[in-house]
Amino acid sequence: MSDDIRPVPQPGILDIAAYLPGKSGAAGSNAVKLSANESPLGASPKAIEAFQSAAAQLEIYPEGSSKILRTALSEVHGVDADRIVCGNGSDDLLHLIAQCYLGEGDEAVMNRYGFSVYPIITRAAGARIVLVDEINYTADVDALLAAVTAKTKIVWLANPNNPTGTYVSDAEVRRLHAGLRPDILLVIDNAYAEYVTAEDYDVGQKLVAEANNVVMVRTFSKMGLAAARIGWLVGSPELVDVLNRVRGPFNVNLPGQLAAAAATRDTEFTARLQAHNAQWRDWIAQELDSNHMHVVPSQGNFVMVLFPDAEHARLAFDTLAERGLIVREIGPSYGIEAGLRISIGSEQAMRGVVGILKALVEIS
Ligand SMILES: *Cc1c(COP(=O)(O)O)cnc(C)c1O
Repeated sequence: MSDDIRPVPQPGILDIAAYLPGKSGAAGSNAVKLSANESPLGASPKAIEAFQSAAAQLEIYPEGSSKILRTALSEVHGVDADRIVCGNGSDDLLHLIAQCYLGEGDEAVMNRYGFSVYPIITRAAGARIVLVDEINYTADVDALLAAVTAKTKIVWLANPNNPTGTYVSDAEVRRLHAGLRPDILLVIDNAYAEYVTAEDYDVGQKLVAEANNVVMVRTFSKMGLAAARIGWLVGSPELVDVLNRVRGPFNVNLPGQLAAAAATRDTEFTARLQAHNAQWRDWIAQELDSNHMHVVPSQGNFVMVLFPDAEHARLAFDTLAERGLIVREIGPSYGIEAGLRISIGSEQAMRGVVGILKALVEIS
């Protein structure tokens, strides 16, 4: 028997660098986690109550199509429930889209600092990822269109984008869509849609209704339910049919379905989160943007802060961590070595971050 012969993964898999999640403080510490864009106000109390109510039925398989949740989403967002697919987080749905629409020899196009999951799922499907330069950390529609080839099957667009926080207006998304062949799928990942305040933004739901090559992907993770792992998408009837053939038959757990349905209907809680976020996102940007730090204008529940260089960014990261505030380094995953991504947290956390970073500038 030879030691050299062993199972070999599919082409592309070994080119993948595994996803790096945001760090947490040491177990048992009181560190505040500002590294994963989680809700600073917890979950909707109604969602928590609904989650707990599932405890009496844990031995029963959940309803497989997430009907309870699709019904709530349909009512609140005004979309046809038959055009919705739910997933175990939106990552589950993004993987599913890549698996169903990409294969060897295909290409998927994305902006250079787009969400780091897209290269992973593209390569896992055996396809090639094409990275397109941005302008001021913002997706450049002309450059994205110029990168399309006969092999292109998908364009991935996070709107707003993570980790930069920048967004593309409705008019620009429509211009991007208008420039794509009808056989290319435009995936609009709206993980932060609830936090957008820009008036020329649109979540893309109208475009999905008008065109059969657009899908809008969303999540509850940034709205207080990250642990429940609930994502959802709206697409054409054909795409919904394709994904429903391949997805896990019970891909969304019952406590999560119930919690997300209750969170969907708790629009008062969503409004509170939005207002908190808008207030402190504006405040931290105003306080930090200076000669020493640039805060990239954000529409998400986080800001990307650019320091003069990688060393200053590292010093800021370490100093914040020493004081119990864990933010996100974006050098390792994204190559933005001089940047840190800071989630919008509680008032106390935001005041802490600003105080520490301003003091650092004074001593350096
Ligand atoms: C957080 C995030 C997701 C993943 O969310 P889950 O639903 O938790 O899997 C997807 N896209 C973007 C751009 C994100 O930032």
